[in-house]
Amino acid sequence: MQNLYLISLLFVYNHLMSPSNSPCLFDVVVVGAGPAGSATAYYLARGGLKVALLDKAEFPRDKTCGDGLTPRALRMLTIMGLITEIEKRAYRCNAITLRQSDTVTYPLSLDHLNGLPDYILVLPRLIFDDLVRQHALAAGATFLPHAWVEMITRATDGTVQIHLQGREPLSCALAVIATGANSALLRDLGLLQAPPPINRAARTYFENVEGLDDTIVLFFDDVELPGYGWVFPTSPTTANVGCGVFFDSPTSQPTLLKRLIQEHPYLRRLLKHARQTAPIKGYALRTDFSPAHSGNEYILVVGEAVGLVNPITGEGIDYALESAQLAAEAILEGLQGDRVARISIQNNYRTALAKKYRYQLMLNHMAQKFYFRYGTLEQLLARAQKKPHLRRAIVDACFGSSDPLVMFTPRTLWNIFGI
Ligand SMILES: Cc1cc2nc3c(=O)[nH]c(=O)nc-3n(C[C@H](O)[C@H](O)[C@H](O)COP(=O)(O)OP(=O)(O)OC[C@H]3O[C@@H](n4cnc5c(N)ncnc54)[C@H](O)[C@@H]3O)c2cc1C
Repeated sequence: MQNLYLISLLFVYNHLMSPSNSPCLFDVVVVGAGPAGSATAYYLARGGLKVALLDKAEFPRDKTCGDGLTPRALRMLTIMGLITEIEKRAYRCNAITLRQSDTVTYPLSLDHLNGLPDYILVLPRLIFDDLVRQHALAAGATFLPHAWVEMITRATDGTVQIHLQGREPLSCALAVIATGANSALLRDLGLLQAPPPINRAARTYFENVEGLDDTIVLFFDDVELPGYGWVFPTSPTTANVGCGVFFDSPTSQPTLLKRLIQEHPYLRRLLKHARQTAPIKGYALRTDFSPAHSGNEYILVVGEAVGLVNPITGEGIDYALESAQLAAEAILEGLQGDRVARISIQNNYRTALAKKYRYQLMLNHMAQKFYFRYGTLEQLLARAQKKPHLRRAIVDACFGSSDPLVMFTPRTLWNIFGI
């Protein structure tokens, strides 16, 4: 009720103040309150800007996900001052178990990740996303739920107009789009010329699961390639179970996951006495990162909306948090007083994205295409069970903790294919 009153007041105020030469109600409007949007709002509000964080959903809201927070995500949460809060609620895993069969199953240790945390946390997005959003609000951002953004335009006076379904537009100096894999707004704006290639994944939750430990499990037998199945413990007896593929598979992933749960020998053992506590849900994943799609002179695009998802692991929360920081740095540097250095904001952000991700993600795409094939993957997993160098290379490639070229060095290739 209090929220509704505040929102109505903001809209009336905004209506009275705009359009034309009046000051903007907000410096920046961030569209989408997933990790990318909320983190951007946090950095900008902490930097002293007036920020509105909009989402079509009311929070807390669920997001179909594996709920894994990688070492890179944990580093960003530490920088944001959120890690203690997250650790209190999350389940800690100290290794990743790779599974090709009952005989080829082994843990990969996460230590020596070039200064990154040596563990993974698993926390359902229903809780995680709301914690990041609340952190943005505590820093001074204003949240508007049920705010479905249909279009963003620029008025003749240079202000940016955010057009909402069934409501008055909001005006601001700059917009940030953080709408995740949902690319409709980006296409309507011409920021994406065509629908992006889509990857697909699905997940559900179980309680009373047997045989869980402090590792997350990735399994490759009986799943479509390139892709994998997973079991991510959310506690010693509960887990997020899912599968995903790096292409637009005609097989529906919820259907495939249902079949795996019923038939996969490993899952059948684990879930023998378990109870499913949530419906199976599928969602798209975008891995089509390109700095050219990072916005224009009045819009920046962050997180999965700019295609930032790792094409080997499918994780995107870490990239969402990292790109939020890069966008906020460019905005805080460019928005000085009344002068809006739009071109420099856009250029600085695009350059920072290209520097951080272009090389790493290009090699990750190559590694995915080369290794995620029947025959090659079995060979890699079987050899890595015995060869520490290979296990290290896999971890580094997964988490970007060293040069991803490691997957293509003569030593790595010899370890896999040598006699
Ligand atoms: C099944 C599955 C498993 C995954 N597992 C993992 C994992 O274990 N670890 C990991 O790191 N990543 C994982 N990912 C990827 C991860 O979920 C995403 O990369 C991440 O959520 C991207 O964050 P984001 O903030 O960019 O977008 P999102 O989290 O998708 O947030 C976008 C927000 O924008 C809002 N929105 C969209 N359109 C509009 C609009 N027009 N107006 C207003 N609001 C709008 C939505 O309501 C949503 O709240 C998984 C993905 C899938 C599908």
